[in-house]
Amino acid sequence: MCGIVGYTGCREAYPILIKGLHRLEYRGYDSAGTALFSENYGNLNIFKASGKVSDLEKAAEGHDRSGSMGIAHTRWATHGSPNVANAHPHVSQSGDITLVHNGIIENYAVLRDQLKAKGFTFKSQTDTEVLVQLIEFIRTTQETDIVNAVRLALTKAIGAYAIVVMDKRTPDVLVAARNASPMVIGIGENDSEFFIASDASPIAEYTNRMVYLNDGEVAVCVKGSPLKVLNLENDSVEAKVKKVNLDLNMLDKGGFPHFMLKEIFDQPNVLKDCLRGRLLPEHQRVILSAVTEHREELLNAKRFIVVSCGTSWHAGLIGKQLIEDFCQIPVEVAYASEFRYANPVVGPGDIVIAISQSGETADTLAAINLAKAKGAMIFGIVNAVGSSIARHTDTGTYIHVGPEIGVASTKAFTGQVTVLIMLALALAHEKKSISTASYQEVLAELALIPEKIEKVLEQNDKIKTLASRYAECRNFLYLGRGVNYPVALEGALKLKEISYIHAEGYPAAEMKHGPIALVDEDMPVVFIATHHQLYEKVVSNMQEVIARKGKILAIVTEGDELVKKMVDEVIEVPQTLNCLAPLLTVIPLQILAYHIAVAKGLNVDMPRNLAKSVTVE
Ligand code: GLU
Repeated sequence: MCGIVGYTGCREAYPILIKGLHRLEYRGYDSAGTALFSENYGNLNIFKASGKVSDLEKAAEGHDRSGSMGIAHTRWATHGSPNVANAHPHVSQSGDITLVHNGIIENYAVLRDQLKAKGFTFKSQTDTEVLVQLIEFIRTTQETDIVNAVRLALTKAIGAYAIVVMDKRTPDVLVAARNASPMVIGIGENDSEFFIASDASPIAEYTNRMVYLNDGEVAVCVKGSPLKVLNLENDSVEAKVKKVNLDLNMLDKGGFPHFMLKEIFDQPNVLKDCLRGRLLPEHQRVILSAVTEHREELLNAKRFIVVSCGTSWHAGLIGKQLIEDFCQIPVEVAYASEFRYANPVVGPGDIVIAISQSGETADTLAAINLAKAKGAMIFGIVNAVGSSIARHTDTGTYIHVGPEIGVASTKAFTGQVTVLIMLALALAHEKKSISTASYQEVLAELALIPEKIEKVLEQNDKIKTLASRYAECRNFLYLGRGVNYPVALEGALKLKEISYIHAEGYPAAEMKHGPIALVDEDMPVVFIATHHQLYEKVVSNMQEVIARKGKILAIVTEGDELVKKMVDEVIEVPQTLNCLAPLLTVIPLQILAYHIAVAKGLNVDMPRNLAKSVTVE
């Protein structure tokens, strides 16, 4: 959530900061701001706006935006409403120190009372302002420099933070620090300039040399000097430089009106990337390096526990069914936010599978730290390379679907499900719990999935027309069984996220235990009714809805004549094996949600109240 960009070097900072904020817009935010140190007058120029980065640009227009050092921020409000006063950067009482912050300072109330007692006054309702005043208090009372003052202040702060700080008195030094919130430092030309950001996307066009800060580390970026990293005890820490090459084309919309639609249409290609080098149909093998390297631990696991949130949790529910079916290893699926506070029974012999697109999900990170402390092994399924979760796991598999910018997840979901299918297959093969014939049948069919998704995408126009008829509905029910039950949950979540229509997903047979009371002529019911052993039972559930005049939209297998005759609308998906069906059945649900939201004139890529990377709990 929210985004930070900082720059110190020889170039003009403002264009770098603004472009960087635009690159981070996908994370979700409600206001933006920047502070620039102008060498001409030795001034700090600060601009802020509620709303979008473009509003910030308007606010700064016509003012002095010069300077080769600056910090910038997009805020996702946690403490105090999203207005200009609460927008970052925040400034210390003397006006010398400026700070941007991502995260939450949990003990801010106590610190603020202590600072008030020392004569400090506050201009915002944020927790962040406490930190900048505390830094100033330490710097003046202990007569120390800004680096030391930041470090000492952080020893008193409890909570999650990524911060970047500037001090007028040292106009070429940026101090960055992190705890449980991501922060990357890009080292620019000749080691003489530094780019700081919440992830690599604003930095990638300038340099591929990145240092990912770890929790409790403070980076000192001085124009023209090598990067220094310290821990909170003031010991030097080695700054490990990683080569990170991001494909900048992947960050653009590629001719689509929204990132979400682009990402839906990206799925055939990115799933090929996800399968590449792992699914080897010509050798009739699935090879995951994590399974090869940790074969014994994985095969001897007492059980797997998936911890995740939102869409990743839905992928986990599908993974559970596949791993249990293919490998006969018990799998539990927990919401990370519940798991982390539940005193869960977990320990050696358990393998926790953490699923997260961004790799920064605060609850998932906390859940894996807890599980690790209790002796479990951690397996990550993550998209963002080098992210915190990727670095905190013992092993894992990247989904490799490229940056996902649309807030509502699409290609990351199918990437996660694809990795879970490969994991289930690879383990089952090692465990010999799957017959050779079935193993080969699934892997041959998995190789065909990208082409089959192409066929589903061909129905985009048809779904668009259909969506316009549903845009005014207030409620939706999504029903499916087996592996298509989590798809029903995911379809309902997509609709809620971007169209603000209330939608619920249920296992189809559960309908008569409650939700059927809601069915009438105004209630559209989306059934996922592809061919599998429970198909007839799902068809009976449809009859129950028809008897109550509910409108049905059914996702069916190509050539299904029975359902076509019964219901209002059908969308066909190609025939595939039941275990792979979610990779096809979710696609029309993503497209449907997209077109309903567009028909309602909503901001699909940045829906209200949501953030892409949920870095607060
Ligand atoms: N807690 C801070 C605030 O409400 C930072 C929020 C953020 O991460 O954007 O201002």
